[in-house]
Amino acid sequence: MVDIKSMNLEELTAWLKERGEPAFRGKQIFKWLHQRGATSFDEMSDLSKALREKLSAQCSIGRLEVARKQMSQQDGTIKYLWRLADGNCVETVLMRYQHGNTVCVSCQVGCRMGCAFCASTVAGKVRDLTPGEMVDQVLFTQLDSGEVISNIVLMGIGEPLDNMDTVLRFLELVNCSEGLNIGMRHISLSTCGLVDQIDKLAQYGLQLTLSVSLHAPDDETRSQIMPVNRGVGVEKLMDTCLRYFKTTGRRISYEYAMIDGVNDADWQADLLARRLRGAPAHVNLIPLNEVEESPLKPSRRVAAFQRRLEERGVTVTVRRKLGGDIDASCGQLRRKAMRQD
Ligand code: SAH
Repeated sequence: MVDIKSMNLEELTAWLKERGEPAFRGKQIFKWLHQRGATSFDEMSDLSKALREKLSAQCSIGRLEVARKQMSQQDGTIKYLWRLADGNCVETVLMRYQHGNTVCVSCQVGCRMGCAFCASTVAGKVRDLTPGEMVDQVLFTQLDSGEVISNIVLMGIGEPLDNMDTVLRFLELVNCSEGLNIGMRHISLSTCGLVDQIDKLAQYGLQLTLSVSLHAPDDETRSQIMPVNRGVGVEKLMDTCLRYFKTTGRRISYEYAMIDGVNDADWQADLLARRLRGAPAHVNLIPLNEVEESPLKPSRRVAAFQRRLEERGVTVTVRRKLGGDIDASCGQLRRKAMRQD
């Protein structure tokens, strides 16, 4: 079956043309799929019955089913656990910020990066998502919640640069004016720091925000909590980030989850500040969300660490914690469901 939802508008139009359809048909069907969230060709009331039947026989339109849904009583954050067509589950979070509604999207079922503090990677990676499955997370969150989504963060389950072609296609699809029409500057992509892939991404010159999950400025600590650092090192990562900035002109954002006694010492703030010299940067300190499978605890030094960075000229924010009452961080709901089932 043809995965029609993962095709871009040009491909869809060409594919239809080969089957004797006029050029406008591409836009028509693309809008049904990417704006209205049609889950069957029968819904496409402005297509002939014959065409609807032909398409149904050749194409699949994936759909997401709500496996679980939790709404935070504190801040209205909604967490969806979606069941994919093959029975696997992924999470999407809808967060209501002042600057607009933001969805946090997953790109893989599980993750193979092995970060010590992250629930998404506990059972490894099952498979990559398709571009259509990624689009559906945004689309069905919008349709189910009745909220218009204006921002996307690729900070859900999975490593975006470990499924890069899919993610690039996803970006193209949500950016399309006949689709969700979300501007690149409203999208953030978060990576654990795959250096070759960061170099490759730079070549596309996308206007999105690259977030790098740094979490430690020294190799000993970073290699201990993030296996991806082993054999690469922080220095090479920072050189890659500098190249990324020079190529794209986009300021990089660094994520730093504060872990008690691991990465929250004064000397680490000092080293971090030194590492960031040379290019505009923004540091986002994240209060660690405790994960059942991990012994790591949240730091009690977030404010002191922030102040120390600021004194050294670094732009820092502390991420506001949303959805704390609903397992809203990375992979927690999927883990919980896996344990219970
Ligand atoms: N694989 C990508 C994106 C997914 S995670 C990446 O590594 O960047 C999104 C962010 O949440 C990352 O910065 C990740 O390190 C962080 N994160 C994961 N588990 C966390 C936890 N328990 N507490 C706080 N932040 C966490």
